[in-house]
Amino acid sequence: MAALDSSKLKIESRTLYVPPLEELKTVFSEALSKNFAEFSVEIVDSPDLKEKPFTLAASGLGGKATVLEVGGPFFLRPLVHRDKVYDIKTMAPLVGHGEKSFVIGAAGGPWPYINNNCELMMNVLLDNPKPSESSRIAFVDKNNGTSVLQVLPKNETRFALMANLFLSEGKPGKVLKVYAKKRTGKNDFIATMQKALVSHYTDKFVGLGGTFLLKEGKAKQHVMPDFSETPINTLADLNNWLNFYDMSAPLIAVGTFVSAEPDLDLKVQHFHSFSYHGEGGHYHIDTTPDIVEYLGYFTPGEIFYRVDQPSVVKSSGKN
Ligand code: ZN
Repeated sequence: MAALDSSKLKIESRTLYVPPLEELKTVFSEALSKNFAEFSVEIVDSPDLKEKPFTLAASGLGGKATVLEVGGPFFLRPLVHRDKVYDIKTMAPLVGHGEKSFVIGAAGGPWPYINNNCELMMNVLLDNPKPSESSRIAFVDKNNGTSVLQVLPKNETRFALMANLFLSEGKPGKVLKVYAKKRTGKNDFIATMQKALVSHYTDKFVGLGGTFLLKEGKAKQHVMPDFSETPINTLADLNNWLNFYDMSAPLIAVGTFVSAEPDLDLKVQHFHSFSYHGEGGHYHIDTTPDIVEYLGYFTPGEIFYRVDQPSVVKSSGKN
């Protein structure tokens, strides 16, 4: 199935407020101190993210840092909108990026590829001349309900229904290194930082993208089963339809989180994770607060793009 023509999609953009990294360090440190027994926030030159444990498709998060949200959960309702298949390769040039861009994040998977609904952990260097790491999908095995993780071929750049992506030129540069261990509050790693953005930047729009490693512990994650044949009308219907799992570290997550912008109907945080032990999915929260350990690298975006926003706004909330 061909993806939608990117040039015909509705595209809006907003300039993001780019806080100095020192300022974000202060904002996040204060919030982490209320939710974790141990934590640190440092401003560092990004490590080579191509290396283990992150194994991303490019080394860094620098260069035209862009936060992109496409579609939304509304396209699952009441029955799936099968036409909502996109291609980041043709969309990237429309959001200020060349074909050499590095794209990571969370999205609905390219279901036509396996003829089954799936989650996508996007991790691609578009137009990469050399073999490198690439995106994964996770789907539900129809026979036994287990989740299955699969590596996508490098030329499969489609996604479907919704996406929260971070685009850059993959260049090295200064990033925020955030470490947290043993959760003592109710907010997990990403929720802690996202809520800190909301409370600190009340009149500014701020968005970050990046990656984190769940080093120790387990996390609640969902994987969408194949499309529902009965209508999904409410958030309760959606949660009943999803398959939830308790997945084990180490998990490598990619995605974005933003402060807020009510009229764009945003998913304020969205991370998908993959692993080298067959597990992967949409991250909700760690389920082992006493032993959980996180390590992440993030950078603030300079511009935000909203593509193909559903015209009927019925947000499912952050998850
Ligand atoms: Zn998701």
